[in-house]
Amino acid sequence: MGFNHDAVESAVVFLFCNIRKNGKIHKGVITTKASNKSSKEVSNMSKQIESFMEKVVKKNPGETEFHQAVKEVAESVIPFIEKNPKYKKAKILERIAEPERVIMFRVPWLDDKGEVQINRGFRIEMNSAIGPYKGGLRLHPTVYLGLLKFLAFEQVFKNSLTTLPMGGGKGGSDFDPKGKSDNEVMKFCQSFMTELCRHIGPNTDVPAGDIGVGGREIGYMFGQYKRIRNEFTGILTGKGLNWGGSLIRPEATGYGCVYFVEAMLKHKGDTLKGKTCAVSGSGNVAQYTVEKVNQLGGKCVTLSDSNGTIYDPKGIDEKKLAYVMELKNVKRGRIKEYAKKYGCKYMEGKRPWGVKCDVAFPSATQNEISKSDAQELVKNGCMAVGEGANMPTTPEAITVFQNAKILYGPGKAANAGGVAVSGLEMSQNSQRLSWERADVDKKLQGIMIAIHRTCVKYGKEGKHVDYVKGANIGGFVKVADAMLDQGLV
Ligand code: NDP
Repeated sequence: MGFNHDAVESAVVFLFCNIRKNGKIHKGVITTKASNKSSKEVSNMSKQIESFMEKVVKKNPGETEFHQAVKEVAESVIPFIEKNPKYKKAKILERIAEPERVIMFRVPWLDDKGEVQINRGFRIEMNSAIGPYKGGLRLHPTVYLGLLKFLAFEQVFKNSLTTLPMGGGKGGSDFDPKGKSDNEVMKFCQSFMTELCRHIGPNTDVPAGDIGVGGREIGYMFGQYKRIRNEFTGILTGKGLNWGGSLIRPEATGYGCVYFVEAMLKHKGDTLKGKTCAVSGSGNVAQYTVEKVNQLGGKCVTLSDSNGTIYDPKGIDEKKLAYVMELKNVKRGRIKEYAKKYGCKYMEGKRPWGVKCDVAFPSATQNEISKSDAQELVKNGCMAVGEGANMPTTPEAITVFQNAKILYGPGKAANAGGVAVSGLEMSQNSQRLSWERADVDKKLQGIMIAIHRTCVKYGKEGKHVDYVKGANIGGFVKVADAMLDQGLV
């Protein structure tokens, strides 16, 4: 990692780093805007960030996504810590960047041919200062330690922003559910939970879904936990409605992201009504993003998967969305089939960002918006970005959005609705009650508006709001204060 020490007023500081995209490592540049500061101040701050990051990189070699996520937070939080020395003395940021516990285990299972398969399972218990560890499980061939550490790190700040008492964690496996039979998925999930069940519990760690983990996988894992431990308890969220799940949980991340974008637009006196939106992905988050955009009077024109993008300028209405849900959740097909069915354009191997839109909702995976994608979006008039996915925008692309001063809602704020409703599922499980759909949706809306308020509080710079800074500092303060209260643990 290199560094430019000649930073001057309104300087852009360059940090060279590696960025992993689609499993490959690329050279990347992280830029830090440091305007309105004396050159001495800029240089001093930059040195502190550089020195902090050098230690993180050295301690966590090869974990490029983790470095990227920590760096983004450090850039906002280190200047704040400088003004609040109590956090510096207690080395709070250094402690937050170190997981409380990492569990790594073998997951053996038998496939349909009777052959032995071995995957690697993980659970990162990152921070429990404000509540039990909470965060999803990802099943995807790209899963490795560094990827889950980035997600667990982000989760700490996200969960703090929700206003609910949840610590941060993340887990998963390099198991690829694509092309596997239901029986194989069940065998894997049972083996995975056989080990994981020793480490989780309703007051310890409560996992949920993420990429590759939906209702089917949560069901198999819950069943195995219950069988081994002989207890029916809220150890997972995203459960089926008739066995402890919450209404609105499947919808929560997508709906929440749209509520957040609506709040950003409202803050500028605008709304989603009549806006054209580009959505990536076609899984859980993407589907419910489309549903809520439609309900608020906007129009979504794209969806994608790892093979390509469909572009439907007429809009993905309710009927077409029902087809997508059947295609993806039941038939487990490819988005290409949508183009055949509705006679629209399919762009093989392409992402949606070349399409003209007012609002972009990246809802597939990390680092899916590159610098040139961001430039294209801005050039085409995109005025807002709501990150349904975690860290979908590369650091250089974030700089493009920030320089253009468009409304950029980072994932830890914009997609916090999913974990927020998971928190509400935990409350309902503790009460042994189920709340009405409208009640949960109202609470979700209230939480997304509260997150927006926090971002504005910590991110306001004159008339402009820096949502990255707002989310990072807003998420940090609650966790940091709890850590100070609880002593050196
Ligand atoms: P799903 O597994 O339901 O859907 C993921 C979608 O993204 C699929 O369309 C998938 O396509 C696509 N995708 C996955 N990996 C890649 C890739 N490397 N390149 C291109 N497309 C890809 O997952 P979710 O919708 O639950 O999650 C999407 C994002 O939202 C993730 O970043 C997740 O961490 C984040 N998120 C999810 C929450 C939730 O509640 N579910 C909560 C907060 C954040 P394909 O089928 O081809 O793999």
